[in-house]
Amino acid sequence: MRVILLGPPGAGKGTQAASIAKEVGISHISTGEMFRASLKEGTPLGLEAKKYMDSGELVPDDVVVGMVRERIQQPDCKEGFLLDGFPRTIIQAQKLDETLENDGLNMDLVINLVCNDKTVLSRLTGRRVCRNCGAIYHVENMPSKQSGICDECGGELYQRDDDKADTILNRLKVYRNSTEALIDYYRQKDLLKDVDANAQREETLKAMLVLIK
Ligand code: ADP
Ligand code: ZN
Repeated sequence: MRVILLGPPGAGKGTQAASIAKEVGISHISTGEMFRASLKEGTPLGLEAKKYMDSGELVPDDVVVGMVRERIQQPDCKEGFLLDGFPRTIIQAQKLDETLENDGLNMDLVINLVCNDKTVLSRLTGRRVCRNCGAIYHVENMPSKQSGICDECGGELYQRDDDKADTILNRLKVYRNSTEALIDYYRQKDLLKDVDANAQREETLKAMLVLIK
């Protein structure tokens, strides 16, 4: 099963993708997480990406597409994968289609997480992430058991640089300008399913699992 999660930043793509990957046993590919991991390691890719991420702009298409192409050719993606944060532009979507077509493959499903601005803003400003394993928390909706410490691995929780107020607004603008068009792109291919992402996390997850299973 090859699935794409669409939706604005803060809709819950990362959180839900992690749960689905666990439940269904398919590989979770988060381009944002890949960039943050590269940055932590100090690789040229990470440093390049940081220039864009800090201001909420998109990393150039060819950089992202190259990275994803490599990733989906790994053995753990043979049975399928769940893309979170990719594609984010029409060009990225077209390149993804080309890459899959070359291998005689295609996407199976695109889940569009529909979420209003108020929810998005509160989720992003309250989000905390584990520096060590990338697990996602929220100070109110989904706190860790011990404040500031990851339940999964004991790592330190921090607020992403791009989860500060002014960057958040730009990310939402970028979403509207560049990414939202993908809804129509995939609707026309008859792959798109809407899921209400304003609901409680478990409810949204259930609706997503019905589509995937
Ligand atoms: P969110 O979905 O919460 O906005 P992500 O962790 O998916 O956050 O992405 C963080 C940042 O990484 C983006 O704002 C962007 O700069 C960069 N990025 C991630 N995925 C892509 C992509 N597919 N294309 C371009 N830039 C990306
Ligand atoms: Zn952790």
